[in-house]
Amino acid sequence: MSYRGLLDKYGTLLDLPSHTRPVSLLEGNTPLIPAEALSRHLGGGFELLVKFEGLNPTGSFKDRGMTAAVSEALGRGAKTVICASTGNTAASAAAYAARAGLKSIVLIPEGKVAAGKLAGAIAYGAQVIQIDGSFDDALTLVVEISNKTPICLVNSINPYRIEGQKTGAFEICDTLGSAPDWLCLPVGNAGNITAYWAGFRQYNALKASGLPQVLGVQAAGAAPLVLGHPVEKPETVATAIRIGKPARGEQAIEAAEQSGGRIIAVSDDEIISMQKLLATLEGIWVEPASAAGLAGLAHEIAAGTFQPGGKRIVAICTGHGLKDPDIVIKDLAKPRIVAPNMDALMEVLSA
Ligand SMILES: *Cc1c(COP(=O)(O)O)cnc(C)c1O
Repeated sequence: MSYRGLLDKYGTLLDLPSHTRPVSLLEGNTPLIPAEALSRHLGGGFELLVKFEGLNPTGSFKDRGMTAAVSEALGRGAKTVICASTGNTAASAAAYAARAGLKSIVLIPEGKVAAGKLAGAIAYGAQVIQIDGSFDDALTLVVEISNKTPICLVNSINPYRIEGQKTGAFEICDTLGSAPDWLCLPVGNAGNITAYWAGFRQYNALKASGLPQVLGVQAAGAAPLVLGHPVEKPETVATAIRIGKPARGEQAIEAAEQSGGRIIAVSDDEIISMQKLLATLEGIWVEPASAAGLAGLAHEIAAGTFQPGGKRIVAICTGHGLKDPDIVIKDLAKPRIVAPNMDALMEVLSA
């Protein structure tokens, strides 16, 4: 049978109202790619798999939750959806709204959204508004407006986003036949870690698929869940997790604790080196935030605080590298320019 999207495949396992009218871009069904070279680089002796969520229709895992949230909004009769976003939610909301024939409005923190994400939101026809403030400021505003008007909020506070995002856990269990030993993933607003944990628990209750231990990873400059208090001015190169007051922070901590895992922070340098390693060793190019989960794993292995031996570890790589090309280009020596002849080319190649 041909694939018809997440609501078609897993809809009966998601707690969505009966008025829901499916809007799909055939999201999900992303590959679980073996990362043997990276596993060896980190010391070896364990199985490492990358769930490459950058291969969703708008280039990030946000499409899993957005198909559910927009389908519910459409069925309810909403005309407009709104979200605050560090970028990927905006692009996803705009695409699904376009497909549903709805209007979309997105609020983004001024100057802090990666080029590929902003371009996406505009291309899909969203009304994009820059806020002279942080993501957290933008979120406060959209929550207020959705309480006062019929405009439908599609941030991950929307429970249907979480329902849709549970499908990532279902897919991993279906592919592997059971849950992995460990799951590592980046944590920003903490919707994704909440959804994965809910999804694994639901599948375990239903199919005895087991539960992973969860390693949630924040950026050191935006690590409220590690510090134990909100961060007023979060700073990190990983813009998708540049969040100081996670909406689902308590649920994230619960997921880590209940699973026997933890939430840690890694530096921007660790994130960028992992982004490079993953691209050069495995051919998987992800945006900086998406490398945070693996950077956390590498950090723990190097510190001796995590023994990976014999374990099966799945890393969620949340978004595509194409979303944020500037990060790579910025640090790059400009490619050399040579005369268009063989001698000049050979000279460069033999240097
Ligand atoms: C949204 C996002 C995250 C963070 O997910 P949360 O659910 O906010 O914790 C991480 N990486 C990418 C690429 C994202 O778009």
